[in-house]
Amino acid sequence: MIYLDNSATTYPKPPQVIRAVQSAVSVYGFNPGRGGYRQSLQTAQKVYEARESIAEFFHASSPEAVIFTPGCTQSINMVIKGALKHGDHVIISSLEHNAVYRPLYQLSKRGEITFDIAEVVIGDDEATIDHFRQAINKNTRMILCTHASNVIGYRLPTERLCALAHSYGILFCLDAAQSAGVFPIDMVNDGYDFVCCPGHKYLYGPMGIGLLLIGNDNIVAPLIAGGTGSVSTQPEMPDFYPDRLEAGTQNISGILGLKAGVDFVRQRGMDRIYHQESRQIDRLYRSLRRHEHLHFIGRVDEREDVYAPVLAFTADRTDSETLAEQLSQQYQIAVRGGLHCAPLAHKALGTIDRGVVRIAPSVFTSTEETNILYRALSRIK
Ligand code: PLP
Repeated sequence: MIYLDNSATTYPKPPQVIRAVQSAVSVYGFNPGRGGYRQSLQTAQKVYEARESIAEFFHASSPEAVIFTPGCTQSINMVIKGALKHGDHVIISSLEHNAVYRPLYQLSKRGEITFDIAEVVIGDDEATIDHFRQAINKNTRMILCTHASNVIGYRLPTERLCALAHSYGILFCLDAAQSAGVFPIDMVNDGYDFVCCPGHKYLYGPMGIGLLLIGNDNIVAPLIAGGTGSVSTQPEMPDFYPDRLEAGTQNISGILGLKAGVDFVRQRGMDRIYHQESRQIDRLYRSLRRHEHLHFIGRVDEREDVYAPVLAFTADRTDSETLAEQLSQQYQIAVRGGLHCAPLAHKALGTIDRGVVRIAPSVFTSTEETNILYRALSRIK
């Protein structure tokens, strides 16, 4: 099998991630923060080391600003439902995933908040920023947007959008689902108030673990309440991080696996990984572009480093899901067709009717594999 759906989840995982997950069950299978015995303390120490390593990776203000969650979707919901108040207004981009759109839609249907969608203009950051600026009103409390589109990989000018938000006293939340481990994220320098990440994509961790990084000492009300092993006589959740947002027994396999994944990315070098994958995408793009029946979507910005290593296209005579199915059945190549849980993005890109085929390599993708994909796509008409 040739796996080119790494934007959905990276596969395979590095051997050190597999070993870390195994050790979480075999060696560190004791509940941390719940007992004073040596084994429980050892697991707690491992969790703390993971927090430290991840805080360093994202330049978070402290290890306590790193919250472990079940995933990116959960982190985004925690921010939306824990930081917004009745009557608040939110601005999102036209390239958002349903992980952003649906919780906001849910709250707006209940009359709790309102939100607007600012159009992203590919290749024109000034126009994009202007659209966000024009959408700000007196109730705007948050700008929330993706760092890189999960459909076309396009990178939004989020550092500048964060500065725009702050100049109006507005919070900024980054959906880093497709960018954590791909583009640098610096909590202190970039100034983000919240960053939401999955562990299982380009941080190479297992599924079922995610991160919420809290910037600028912002307060988020807990979505879930329960035991934390701290201030147990108090009926309210603790008022300090990470306990405030981490009720219940934590996912130790996920946490240790994620730490190993982050360490793997750090050791390989995020920049090196990015350029290795981008070279494969560029080569594919340059050669496939010659085929008149294929149409590449959103690939109009000529600047360097503005696309995560992803390629999206449509074909003249086949819809994207059928083409992805053909690649799977005839060539054992796994790519994703359809709408990628991002109807807003597909509406904006004009591909809502047929979707796109998305190619997403990882650090483990070889040139031979992308050559096989090239040959397969040249044959399927
Ligand atoms: N945001 C974007 C841009 C995504 O691509 C995804 C998943 O593909 C998510 C959020 C949600 O991530 P998860 O499904 O891991 O919670």
